Amino acid sequence: MTQTVGHCRGAVFKSNIGYVKKKYGSQGLNKITTYMKEKGAWMDLDKIRDTEWYPIRMRIAFLDGVYELFSGRNEEMFSLGKYAALHVERLALLVRYTKRTEEVVKESGQSWDKHWDIGSLEIMVNEHGHTLLRLEEFNIGPHQCKYLSGYFVGVAELSGANNVSIEETACISKGDPYHEFDLHWE
Ligand SMILES: [Zn+2]
Repeated sequence: MTQTVGHCRGAVFKSNIGYVKKKYGSQGLNKITTYMKEKGAWMDLDKIRDTEWYPIRMRIAFLDGVYELFSGRNEEMFSLGKYAALHVERLALLVRYTKRTEEVVKESGQSWDKHWDIGSLEIMVNEHGHTLLRLEEFNIGPHQCKYLSGYFVGVAELSGANNVSIEETACISKGDPYHEFDLHWE
């Protein structure tokens, strides 16, 4: 069962909307709005505010919409997440000061609580070339997992890492007690 309680910040949606507009145009965004309305999770996607909290069902409906209306492929969720990471201003600023991927990944992990009021993200391993991230108490379906995989790859690439790869080695959606993302780079 996916959870229905919880919120995420408008900022989480913002760059996703940029991705949809860029790839599918305003028409694509309108389709998502209609889809969300049908799911009882309508929101004005053009008026989202970064710091406002939005119910988790809206996040689920948004990701379901992107998945079902467009390609129906996990790669799309991955690209959506990667695009988001590449457009986080805070991370881009950090990269000006450090190109150490482990520092940038750490910052992205530590900002979890600023964007979600559910789940906890812990960095289990963080050394040169390898980060292991564990996400607990968070179950909003598999799309967000693919999204996060893309997001962490994007964070690593933003910092200049090469040959970045990621594997979700445990997943609540598959019955594991938590999600675990194993990130490698050079
Ligand atoms: Zn997962």
